[in-house]
Amino acid sequence: MKIETVLAQVMSEIDRAEKIHPVWPRNHIHQCAVIAEEAGECLQAALNHDEHKGSKRQMITEAVHTAAMAIRFLKNIEETDPNE
Ligand SMILES: [Mg+2]
Repeated sequence: MKIETVLAQVMSEIDRAEKIHPVWPRNHIHQCAVIAEEAGECLQAALNHDEHKGSKRQMITEAVHTAAMAIRFLKNIEETDPNE
């Protein structure tokens, strides 16, 4: 996949996620939990694909979700409450 395609998909997912879930957690642990949840879904999609129960498209979708949430984490890092 071309990097331009990857970045376009990730940017689109950030936009979609921010509309669906406008509130981003202020706590680092909860923020990382969101990333980890998506990474877990990516792993599940990879396991499903490996066992011929899932598509490559689903793996890509979950990898895009993971990248989008990692970028959202970085985008909001300055607004994170240091006491939470
Ligand atoms: Mg997902």
